[in-house]
Amino acid sequence: MIHYQLRCEQAHEFDGWYKDSTSFDKLAAAGLVECPVCGSAKVSRALMAPAIAKTRAERQEVAPQQPQATPPSPPPAGPQQAAAGPIPAQMVALLQRMRAEVEKNCDYVGNDFADEARKMHRGESELRGIYGEASDSDAEELREEGIDIARLPWVPRADG
Ligand SMILES: [Zn+2]
Repeated sequence: MIHYQLRCEQAHEFDGWYKDSTSFDKLAAAGLVECPVCGSAKVSRALMAPAIAKTRAERQEVAPQQPQATPPSPPPAGPQQAAAGPIPAQMVALLQRMRAEVEKNCDYVGNDFADEARKMHRGESELRGIYGEASDSDAEELREEGIDIARLPWVPRADG
């Protein structure tokens, strides 16, 4: 459809909708376009300003592009091994017996465990059973030095 602003010889203006410009021309030539006011068939298209959609030029505030933080990749899905999980009751009982044995038969050397273990290994200290605390790196070093150590989960005593 095409919209024409029409004007008759009497300067009446009216609107007309036509299939296309050719359609209007044919109707007008045939005298079928009549002014609705005076009935005149002498109708011509008025000059029309192009219909420009008036869009408000909205200022788009261009937000400074934040560097896209890459989302942390999800942790690899997989069954968490029970290392950090609760120790089975049977194991706890065993560890409690071992702890009792260790405490009965070994000297507690606390944080000097690694040093004491080395001294005994070098023969600088009486060979005996000791127990105490050692860091992961201490334990690793002792193993590399060929010193046998056992790491026990230190469970609470059976008697509380
Ligand atoms: Zn007219």
